[in-house]
Amino acid sequence: MFRIGYGWDSHEFKPGIPLMIGGLELPHDKGLAGHSDGDVLLHALTDALLGAVAAGDIGAFFPPSDPKWKGANSVLFLEEALRQVDRAGYRVANCDTTLILAGPKIGPHAKRLQERVAELLKVEPNCVGIKAKTPEGMGTDNAAIAHASVLLIKKNSDEEGQLLAAEATPQPVVDEVVQKVLEVSVPTLPRGSRN
Ligand code: MG
Repeated sequence: MFRIGYGWDSHEFKPGIPLMIGGLELPHDKGLAGHSDGDVLLHALTDALLGAVAAGDIGAFFPPSDPKWKGANSVLFLEEALRQVDRAGYRVANCDTTLILAGPKIGPHAKRLQERVAELLKVEPNCVGIKAKTPEGMGTDNAAIAHASVLLIKKNSDEEGQLLAAEATPQPVVDEVVQKVLEVSVPTLPRGSRN
């Protein structure tokens, strides 16, 4: 059994603060302002996870009005969302994300971001999509926007068993099996013998 979730967030760039994205500090002359550390990608992922188990949103768990969360590390938010996912009996199968920002270029950091987000979500890096676009024609050059979608899988379900088996099978073995299947000639039934 599966559940999907979707999250979105935006933060404004401000000079003189560190730029936190995906749990990493990226080199840039501006950072993202917010009540917390402004990590737009982790906020979108947190909302996607909470949404997938219908547990509300990031603001319900961590109200911006609460001084406790001032300057908070957004990893804490993601970890709470993962606790909610776990409590509901699910785990992350994969996620996909898109960042929309004029700068810095995300490409040079994409692999590190993928590995960090995978580590936080406790999945393999190949289960984390990191994509980035510039905000052409949107007039949002002073903001960073993040979209995130997640797929959850029910723990101890048949589907999880199949997924674990597929993940545990080395790709060369899969390739060999596919090749053998393709090599086997399918017997053709004589005309009129179907039904
Ligand atoms: Mg936010």
